[in-house]
Amino acid sequence: MSSEVFYTSLKTKQGQSLITKMEKLIQRAGLMDAVAPKDLVAIKMHFGERGNLAYVRPQYVRRVVEMIKKKEGKPFLTDANTLYVGSRTNAVDHLQTAIENGFDFSVVGAPLVIADGLNGKDYASVPVNLKHFKEVKIGSAAVQADALIAITHFKGHEATGFGGTLKNLGMGLGSRAGKQQQHSDLLPQVQEEKCKACGKCAKWCPVQAITVEGKAQINYNLCIGCGECTVTCQYKAIAINWKTEQNMIQEKIAEYTAGVLQGKEGKTGFITFVMDVSPLCDCCGWNDVPIVGDIGILASKDPIAIDQAAVDLVNQAHGNPQSELGSKHGENDKFRALFPGVDWNVQLAYGEEIGLGSRQYTLIEV
Ligand code: SF4
Ligand code: SF4
Repeated sequence: MSSEVFYTSLKTKQGQSLITKMEKLIQRAGLMDAVAPKDLVAIKMHFGERGNLAYVRPQYVRRVVEMIKKKEGKPFLTDANTLYVGSRTNAVDHLQTAIENGFDFSVVGAPLVIADGLNGKDYASVPVNLKHFKEVKIGSAAVQADALIAITHFKGHEATGFGGTLKNLGMGLGSRAGKQQQHSDLLPQVQEEKCKACGKCAKWCPVQAITVEGKAQINYNLCIGCGECTVTCQYKAIAINWKTEQNMIQEKIAEYTAGVLQGKEGKTGFITFVMDVSPLCDCCGWNDVPIVGDIGILASKDPIAIDQAAVDLVNQAHGNPQSELGSKHGENDKFRALFPGVDWNVQLAYGEEIGLGSRQYTLIEV
């Protein structure tokens, strides 16, 4: 069955801001149907790592907050703590980073609640009974919320090809232990000929699994597969063994998404910004040149359809030769060109298989 995905371009004229275009899009998509009076409404965000500037601007989020309040809902902005070393590993650092990035009450008009608590241990186990997990560990605030609106920045990701709604929900709302479960099959490997022994990977490894004596070495008894070393090494000397592992993490993310959405039938909505499509995730403390020009905003009640539409729109757009795509800018599949070993289809195919939504969609321009 085909799902509806609503789309607005970024073309505007006098008297029409992008914020009002987004509001019209959300109304047309019927996303506020999810909100009833007195509902505690989680707005799932990625607040951006300190130094990153590609995340969704807080001014858009404020309008979503206002729309929820008009329905007499009680919105709060949320995300769960990260596994890797960075500026969002506990609630104190996470809130500080979010506020520095503009997600302050004075700007967005809603409080911020870190879904898995002070140090990532505040989670609920949600039974899913799927292939990889019997139950998943989701940040409590997301589970306890009555309704959930996901606001997603669409971009590349080294583990999943692209990061869309499934990644935002499944990995994003997994508690730190939940994130660890999802990453546990990734095995980073040092390519010694490329290693310059700079030690940066060892500094960023959250479990001190890397020692650098001559070349970097990984202790697989300690490694939790977070992948942090792979994005830290500027010489690309650490790679994940994707051949065997890449399907696993994408399927696990889909199973975690099933846990996030469980019990919220008719109480969810998804908004995706296909803008500033950086090659890597907003978890990086930087954002490289976008791989395509800004495309638009999407809204849907189907998390699979909205991801499929977003990836199709990016792949149909002209690639930016000044970006990381470089000479591969003309390739049809931009994310395969960026991450040749990763087949992003897996998350959508498996998500569809376990009933999260449909890859068939109708794009409706608003
Ligand atoms: S960051 Fe890269 S170059 Fe530096 S020690 Fe680690 S693997 Fe080697
Ligand atoms: S060695 Fe393992 S735990 Fe350490 S940063 Fe790399 S993937 Fe993460």
